[in-house]
Amino acid sequence: MSTSTNAARRRRRVSSFRCLNCRLDVSVDAPGTAHRNHCPTCLWSRHVDDTPGDRSADCGARMEPIAITTRSDGEWLIIHRCVGCDELHRNRIAGDDNVVVLFELAVRPLARTPFPLAQLAQL
Ligand SMILES: [Zn+2]
Ligand SMILES: [Zn+2]
Repeated sequence: MSTSTNAARRRRRVSSFRCLNCRLDVSVDAPGTAHRNHCPTCLWSRHVDDTPGDRSADCGARMEPIAITTRSDGEWLIIHRCVGCDELHRNRIAGDDNVVVLFELAVRPLARTPFPLAQLAQL
């Protein structure tokens, strides 16, 4: 085997992962992001990074999508919370993320208000 073939093999990166939540096989190539870090169908992630893409976290537990936030430029970010250690991460959404699940997360506080909405009319 030639040296150049060995070098190419070492450079080859993981091309897919299996979602720990819904078991979908997911390609790491995602539109709009350099490294996909969550499942496009259920949006769950896995605690493998300390900072995005570094793969240096030892935890490895599932990370639940718990909320949507926005950057100053309007881009949506998913807040993930690790079910193993409670760490919170912010991750950019990808172009093929499930829009229904994204919206369900975004409107969750309004869909589950801690007080009757009729109270707003009395303010
Ligand atoms: Zn999934
Ligand atoms: Zn963790």
